[in-house]
Amino acid sequence: MPELPEVETIRTQLSSALVGEKIVSFEIRRDKSFRGNPKELSGRTIASVKRIGKYLFFHTDKWVGMVGHLKMTGRMIVKNGEFYQTAKHTRVVVTFESGQRLYFWDTRVFGYLEVTSDSKLAEVALQKRLGADPWQISPQEFHTICMRYKRPIKNLILDQENLSGVGNIYANDGLWKAGIDPRRPASSLSTIETEKLLTALREVLERGLLVGGASDNSYVDAHNEKGSYQDEFLVYRLTGAPCKKCQTSLTRVVVGGRGTWLCSSCQK
Ligand SMILES: [Zn+2]
Repeated sequence: MPELPEVETIRTQLSSALVGEKIVSFEIRRDKSFRGNPKELSGRTIASVKRIGKYLFFHTDKWVGMVGHLKMTGRMIVKNGEFYQTAKHTRVVVTFESGQRLYFWDTRVFGYLEVTSDSKLAEVALQKRLGADPWQISPQEFHTICMRYKRPIKNLILDQENLSGVGNIYANDGLWKAGIDPRRPASSLSTIETEKLLTALREVLERGLLVGGASDNSYVDAHNEKGSYQDEFLVYRLTGAPCKKCQTSLTRVVVGGRGTWLCSSCQK
């Protein structure tokens, strides 16, 4: 599933490609992938593309807008349209006055685009439901959230109501970088540990953003290019590989139903 660096990469590209573009028409090839009345958006011009957690917001010159989520396998493509024009899994095609197109492609069909008639209010509502992302939250705020949480720290990181945007890849790598055992109750972490963890999460997310995200699954950016973070995973999916700090073989455990990789000597 695309995480914060992947969605932010797409947001930047969509923003530079689509701001100022006037929507002409929608072609909805799969009903499940599109919610609301597309006619509300016809003739509207894209004013900004924002991100909250893993959600993408398309604001227009009026109150109406569109929110999108890629879920497991969604892609939003504005370049290299030839493949996506005829691709089996292209679900929605948005055509702009300039002739440019936005393709929403999704194999598993969990992702969607949705018309929001009051896009500013929808954004506020979403912000209330989601936690801040690691780039927005202060160390003190993060520590307070941890102290209230009795379950494993890794569950807290993945729970979008506590902290948004971080999924399994960056949660695993961040915990290793901070030297914290993912199974520890969040409330057992000291102030120093929560601060170390927040810093580590920001570092792995920034690295992910710098290299265009992780394309270990179906992720590609809005230009149909793969990222390369999968070539430098720190612990994620590296069962048996030597720890990059101490050479101990990494082990795989399950925390909160998710595959979890750790170094038993570095992570306490
Ligand atoms: Zn180690």
